[in-house]
Amino acid sequence: MISPMNPAQLREKVVQWRRDFHRHPELGYREYRTAARVCDVLAAIPGCTVRVGRDVMDPAALMNPPSAEEFAAARSEAIAHGANPAWVARMGDGLTGVVAEFNFVRPGPTLAFRVDMDALPILESAEAAHAPAREGFASTHAGRMHACGHDGHTAIGLGLASLAPAHAAQWGGKLKIVFQPAEEGCCGAKAMVAAGVFADVDALVCGHLGTGATRAGLIACGTDAFLATTKFDVEYRGRAAHAGMAPQDGRNALLTAATFALQLHALPRHAGGETRANAGTLHAGSGRNVIADRAIVEAEVRGTTAAVNRFMTDEAFRVARAAAEMFGVTCDIRIVGEAGSAPCDAALKEIVRAAAKSLPATHEIVDTLPLGGSEDATLMMLAVQARGGTATYLQIGTALPAGHHHPRFDIEESALWHGVELYAAIAERVLGV
Ligand SMILES: [Zn+2]
Repeated sequence: MISPMNPAQLREKVVQWRRDFHRHPELGYREYRTAARVCDVLAAIPGCTVRVGRDVMDPAALMNPPSAEEFAAARSEAIAHGANPAWVARMGDGLTGVVAEFNFVRPGPTLAFRVDMDALPILESAEAAHAPAREGFASTHAGRMHACGHDGHTAIGLGLASLAPAHAAQWGGKLKIVFQPAEEGCCGAKAMVAAGVFADVDALVCGHLGTGATRAGLIACGTDAFLATTKFDVEYRGRAAHAGMAPQDGRNALLTAATFALQLHALPRHAGGETRANAGTLHAGSGRNVIADRAIVEAEVRGTTAAVNRFMTDEAFRVARAAAEMFGVTCDIRIVGEAGSAPCDAALKEIVRAAAKSLPATHEIVDTLPLGGSEDATLMMLAVQARGGTATYLQIGTALPAGHHHPRFDIEESALWHGVELYAAIAERVLGV
């Protein structure tokens, strides 16, 4: 058991946690070290039940997990960098989600906060102008970086958990803090929803540092312009043949993939909302003088509503199969990521507004800012809303030296404590009895 920290000590601790996570970025489903540190901190907090592994993630619902070899390598690396092996053993292959639960004695609603933990495959800037490089907490893994602020989100979640015991007498119901893996690519949320993590949640608060909130002290109570999305791989298998001696015997998977990529960008659009389509990678062939027998395209579509995204997905799949038919090759389509589009509930946004207003760190409050991207937290929001609960996706302001997913992305660390205080003030309003 840790002795209770005063706010100044905890504020410092939150910064240290963020810097530690920033030094050790881990990609989706491979957040073993991060998740194990989270478990260690939570296990030392009085009254906190730590749930991990199969308890909080359904292995059958993992979207696009890495290979068994990659999992094994990630576990070894995490343990070599200080992860507690006992926690790592409970996380199996990619079950790196963690849920902190506080059950208060008095009755009340169940309030959940969701924070995400994964990093990105980006080489972090070593320039002195980049604070993590200058101050010695840049990534220790070349080619991996916390370039979206999820290190900060995880630290905020731990800060909130650390504050909870002091409120045990005044709060009723249940507080859940959900540490989600594999947000990037819209992969990890589905398995947590499938495991029933949100089956008892009455109010869900998701959030992000920065995005549209690009000034310190600014809080957006909600977010709109989520794009529903489907991310998918199309694999074509044809027949190899000598390009000079017997081209007529080949079935060209490369040309099939190229045709699909072009036609994906030529899909009809939908009057019901904005749409996007992108073929992001195309790998094909094995040699200059060989008719390519294999090709893979990584692609995605998006839409402002689930219905518009469904239309784009159906059309994209139809074109993918039609291209295969045209060239006489086989086609295999795998969905590897999904997110929905969820509205933020007015009642919960009002609670966020009141909570934000009570804090000296808040300089400005707006109702809603757009995201203009995709987030699989929407699957959690939709699950809570489907059972009659409320959900919102707030934004915590910070100046950004460079945009999200940029090698010089960074946050203002003062935003971390603003986030902790905001989450605690929301909990006060929802759980206070
Ligand atoms: Zn993010």
